[in-house]
Amino acid sequence: MENTTLHFTDLGIDTRLETQLAHQGITQPTDIQAHAVPTALAGHDIFAQSKTGSGKTLAFLLPAVQRVMKQKALSKRDPRVLIVAPTRELATQVFTQLRLLIAGTNIKAVKILGGENFNDQIKALRKEPQFIVATPGRLKDMIKRKMVNIRSIEYCVLDEADEMLNMGFYEDIKDILKNTPNDKDSWLFSATMPPEVNVIAKKFMHDPKEITVGTKNSSAKNISHQYYIVGARERYNALGAVISLNTDIFGCVFCRTKIETQKVADKLIKDGYKAAAIHGDLSQNQRDAVMQSFRKKKIQLLIATDVAARGLDIPLIQHVINYDLPQVPEDYVHRIGRT
Ligand code: AMP
Repeated sequence: MENTTLHFTDLGIDTRLETQLAHQGITQPTDIQAHAVPTALAGHDIFAQSKTGSGKTLAFLLPAVQRVMKQKALSKRDPRVLIVAPTRELATQVFTQLRLLIAGTNIKAVKILGGENFNDQIKALRKEPQFIVATPGRLKDMIKRKMVNIRSIEYCVLDEADEMLNMGFYEDIKDILKNTPNDKDSWLFSATMPPEVNVIAKKFMHDPKEITVGTKNSSAKNISHQYYIVGARERYNALGAVISLNTDIFGCVFCRTKIETQKVADKLIKDGYKAAAIHGDLSQNQRDAVMQSFRKKKIQLLIATDVAARGLDIPLIQHVINYDLPQVPEDYVHRIGRT
């Protein structure tokens, strides 16, 4: 679908939401929005392949907010929309976009995230929010303890489904979905489509409409790609050489494992660079502190695993160094898309 002259109202979005978007400088739908919004509003399940940066968050938030706004029975007390995302950072980004959309309405939203105070989340749930944005582990925990009821959910979003499965949340996702009603609408978004994602779709979705936008492996333009052939033992020295050629370097170094990520960061720090590692073994506080230092440019090199980097709100960077090759081609696109 060519969308150059499309407006959000053409997709069935009402003018209040369109104005709200215009305040954010968002005037024309992206491809994924142009396809997903009308499909969701028509009541179909969605199985969408789309990357971070494609506008996928609004592709599911817009129809969800519009549907909830249009419902007359706002007296219903249980949550209506459940959005599950792999990491705290990603869930927080979704929550932030959602808050902008529902500003000035009587719609309420709550975050259910790991690493945060249970009591605060329980208190927020008592205010009878229509929206829950959650990470899988904490949500499952709270369902088990009967602290949250998702049995009347009408819309269920799985954001970055492949990442949730990569992070080992397969069983948690299945448990969560088993606690939702059969007749809800399900919208699944994933950058890649490994077999487990298809299993989830087959098991829990009803005749979903498949949406794939853009070319699956295209990376951003205006980026120059370079490679150096070095032996494994020379790799760290080669990294040092590349960095010393770019003295004001500000970027990410991607490694495959947590251990290597930490090792490379430790070595760089020892060699006098302002570097820090970010990976799944760090506590949430540690991760937040690292990201804050990086955003403030107190750190010039962020050493990351693909999983840790996914969903991070990384500022615009100049260099991406692939210390290890990515496991799947799509991860290369994700890594490079940060520049
Ligand atoms: P996402 O792919 O959902 O992570 O979105 C990436 C970024 O694109 C977010 O910062 C959005 O605010 C922004 N965005 C989403 N939709 C549009 C749009 N239609 N036009 C311009 N920017 C957008």
